[in-house]
Amino acid sequence: MPRKKSMRALPTPEVPHHPYGPSRWPALLECSHYEGRATSSDAERGTALHQLFARVLVGEEVEEPGDLFEANVVKLAEKYRSMHLEDKGDLAKGERTLLVETLVWLDVPMGPVSDIYGRPDCAFMDRNHILHVIDLKTAENPERDYLPQLIAYASGIVTSTDFDPVAVCFHLAYADSGREVTVQMQADEVWCRYEELYERIQDIASGKQAAPQQCGWCSLCAKYESCPAARAVAETVSATLADAPERWPEFTPARKAQLCVLAEAVGKWAEAIKALAAEDAKGGAVIEDAENGIFYEVRPRTGKLCFTVETLWAVVRQHLSPDEFKSCLDVAQARLTDALKARGVKPKEVKALLEAAGTRAKPTLVFVRRSA
Ligand code: SF4
Repeated sequence: MPRKKSMRALPTPEVPHHPYGPSRWPALLECSHYEGRATSSDAERGTALHQLFARVLVGEEVEEPGDLFEANVVKLAEKYRSMHLEDKGDLAKGERTLLVETLVWLDVPMGPVSDIYGRPDCAFMDRNHILHVIDLKTAENPERDYLPQLIAYASGIVTSTDFDPVAVCFHLAYADSGREVTVQMQADEVWCRYEELYERIQDIASGKQAAPQQCGWCSLCAKYESCPAARAVAETVSATLADAPERWPEFTPARKAQLCVLAEAVGKWAEAIKALAAEDAKGGAVIEDAENGIFYEVRPRTGKLCFTVETLWAVVRQHLSPDEFKSCLDVAQARLTDALKARGVKPKEVKALLEAAGTRAKPTLVFVRRSA
């Protein structure tokens, strides 16, 4: 069990991340050369979601969620807040505290790095003396193992507080899906894992580093552009993409899902490139590679032919019966909806009118990406 320490003066809330703090453990344990990027819009978004999470946890009133991520964060925070409020049982006084973004110090028995601290998003003890350690993540990524971070937090919490758990329940809460993943371990097992992980971190800090290792953290790494390990794997993966349709049956479900994500991204990329090139060409720019025989040009296209029902009927009635003509008509539903709304018909009524007038085709199966 981690040794208890007397509480020390807390650094200010703006204290920077410790270079070997728990939030860096998952990446360092995958690749000891990992270096986080200074700032990014993703990091700013993550900070804003964490602030919202903390405000709901301490019972503050918050504004209406602006999007699905915020709605999920509020829901998750409310869940943990009520778990803590309802479940304090016969805990000792000090163990009843709800820790929200509280700085804790890790038990660091030896090695070159001392005074490692971290800031778990949320932690509390329940009536069964189980310590709950909660960490909010913006998005789920199956390539990243966050358990080492949560194990380090558990050590820090026990070192820095009166908490004396028999078991630890780790919660990973995801803002993108609103899902949570929990893992529960006996306390002894947690402290054993902590010692192993801590030893590896001390080795990294002492300079005992293996070669860079391509991993789920490369895209966030400041060295990504220049790192040979990350590039080598990217080159191997891209070499297998061309024959992916032929090799489809060999792929695992996870690989198939990754290829679908890639296909969506490539599709969007292709649309954007075509739109940019068309805009350039319409503006008079030349889009061609004469050496390789690639030429693009802007050609006039005949405009779409539109009719009113009356004028059309007037010219075709000599050839078609009224029923034959009616079966050829197709109403532009969006225009009809707009016209009804412009006449003051409420959206719900418009929907009901159209449902009553039309016949719905049988449901079909569609392949779409879902959040969780
Ligand atoms: S980019 Fe290179 S140094 Fe960074 S995490 Fe990936 S392999 Fe390691």
